[in-house]
Amino acid sequence: MSRLWSSMVHNLHPYVPGEQPKEGTFIKLNTNENPYPPSPKVLAAIKEAANDDLRLYPDPISLALRKQIAQHHALEASQVFVGNGSDEVLAHIFHAFFMRPEPLQFPNISYSFYPVYCQLYGIEPNQVALNEDFEIELASYQSGPVILPNPNAPTGRLLGLEELEKRLRAFPDSLLVVDEAYIDFGGASADCLVGQYDNLLVTRTYSKSLSLAGIRLGYALGHAQLIEALIRVKDSFNSYPVDSLASAAGIAALADWSYYQSVNQQVIDNREGLVNQLDALGFVTLPSTANFVFTRHPKYQGGWLYQQLKDAGILVRHFNRPGLDQWLRISVGSSSDCDQLVKRLQQMLAAK
Ligand code: PMP
Repeated sequence: MSRLWSSMVHNLHPYVPGEQPKEGTFIKLNTNENPYPPSPKVLAAIKEAANDDLRLYPDPISLALRKQIAQHHALEASQVFVGNGSDEVLAHIFHAFFMRPEPLQFPNISYSFYPVYCQLYGIEPNQVALNEDFEIELASYQSGPVILPNPNAPTGRLLGLEELEKRLRAFPDSLLVVDEAYIDFGGASADCLVGQYDNLLVTRTYSKSLSLAGIRLGYALGHAQLIEALIRVKDSFNSYPVDSLASAAGIAALADWSYYQSVNQQVIDNREGLVNQLDALGFVTLPSTANFVFTRHPKYQGGWLYQQLKDAGILVRHFNRPGLDQWLRISVGSSSDCDQLVKRLQQMLAAK
């Protein structure tokens, strides 16, 4: 079929998501999903929305959902853009703002979808090295657009709001996109800066802290003029990226925020427990503010640990790339998931 392809497709290197095994029972600690279920009120809202109205198209501007999100962040609906997962929101951001003469700066160890979007849209990437503690050194970024996850993935390391503000003030004509996929696990959100800086976009997802990866819902917060650009791109691509069931789920989830606060506190507690246990086994783990930890063992290869765990029915993420191949990214599971992981690691290391 390749003779029928558009020429650019030949050169694409698509993003490879973590495995979603179809067979066998695995403890899945490889895609940073939430180990706890969505709020029961979300499931009820989806059931209620599953009615004859599904013959109708959803609201193309998702106004009710955007109002609920705006209220959650103390913003206006005009400052909110929604899409089919934050990956789609990010794709529109790359399309709307980064196809410019200046290269796009982002950390060299970061979300591996960014280089893929660069390739898709013909954007020149400038990947800026982390420091030796795996921290983002924002002061070494030049003028021009920047995107970074905060906390960063896969390291879990967090930048403070002061550092983000310093950048926003120093480069008022450069867009800063802060990808807050993991911010609800202990970091301070830059949502409070959105009203103050028109060069800031914050992206968020329902996939992690809102336990709704299966729904595909994400959003961006920013100045109304930035949101306007995203709406233009979206309306030149797909008028209805958020379906009626996803919209109902998204509204109900934020309306039951207290449920999620307790769920996410449990994830944070599990993370702290896991870090201590990994520590006791001799692992070196970066400080994490996310629902995953980035860890390595000085004595054992990352690839070996990954495979041994997989053979034992536990999936974690291993990045087979220079500089990262010693490390594992382990999603924080339920307390029972964490216990089983630690037990298995104890057995593996004792047998070596
Ligand atoms: N940003 C980062 C840093 C991520 O790790 C992920 C999850 N793969 C996403 C965005 C995308 O999340 P989703 O499309 O599920 O909203």
